[in-house]
Amino acid sequence: MQPIQGLHHITAIASDAQANIDFYVRVLGQRLIKTTVNFDDPGTYHVYYGDRRGTPGTIMTFFPWPAMHRGRRGAGETSAMAYALPQGSLGWWMDRLTAQGVAWDGPEKRYGESVIRFEDPDGLVIELVATDSPSTIEPWEDGPIPSMHALRGFHSVTLLLRDVEPTAQVLTHHMGYTLVAREGARYRYRGASNDRGLYVDLLHAPDAGRGAFGAGSIHHIAFRTVDDEEQSSYLSALRSAGLQVTPVQDRQYFRSIYFREPGGVLFEVATDEPGFTSDESVEALGSSLKLPARYEAQRSQIEARLPPIERQVFTTEEE
Ligand code: ZN
Repeated sequence: MQPIQGLHHITAIASDAQANIDFYVRVLGQRLIKTTVNFDDPGTYHVYYGDRRGTPGTIMTFFPWPAMHRGRRGAGETSAMAYALPQGSLGWWMDRLTAQGVAWDGPEKRYGESVIRFEDPDGLVIELVATDSPSTIEPWEDGPIPSMHALRGFHSVTLLLRDVEPTAQVLTHHMGYTLVAREGARYRYRGASNDRGLYVDLLHAPDAGRGAFGAGSIHHIAFRTVDDEEQSSYLSALRSAGLQVTPVQDRQYFRSIYFREPGGVLFEVATDEPGFTSDESVEALGSSLKLPARYEAQRSQIEARLPPIERQVFTTEEE
């Protein structure tokens, strides 16, 4: 069984779908690579952002729930997600965020890398990390950000935990992660590849209050497995370790198993296959509402319940 290669996707909760699209596409230059519905609740959108072709390790997804109250950051959750940036692009991003009216903090040094942080419209904490780490992604050349400054997929996630050790055990004993550094209360674990989405940071906060789930909360983080066979090995191994793992769920663009790690964070192990180009071409990604076959017969009713969204949220002239 191969060790886990890194992060596959991160799924979070938003309130307003359009504000979410405006922010991730127009401000951060992520491509809207899929618009579909929540497969358990088809009256709700599920939107996916990533690089040009939806490479695992770049995929940020949201369920926009219009009436959702805002969550509160606290222990037992993923308290921040970080995108990688090329070295030398941080100053450009500080200027861009300021010009877009986004307040940011930093830069601070973390393990020798410069980090700034800010919030999305629902209060989700995003960090940008200037790094030399390799990241093979395909920048979205038709997007609002010059390719040389484009975000390079995920750098890391931070889990805020009252107790680090039980989570560390799962990462190192059952997922192939390695402790690579410690800085104060922050412990850094590294996946097996040498590419995007490599790091999981555990931030020890023994006195932190419990997080409250809501808009701006990260619902779960998903790790990469290459195929069904490897995922099946993980399913057996994690169950043998005493974790309550769900059966395989078909998520149309990947297949998933889920379990809650001992610190309270929902983990998913997802396959790279079949990927986001399984039902539309690279050129057409995200351009129309995609539904799984079982919902196609209800398409008109589903579309009528969803709020309208505008996908083209910037013009190349204004950038
Ligand atoms: Zn997921």
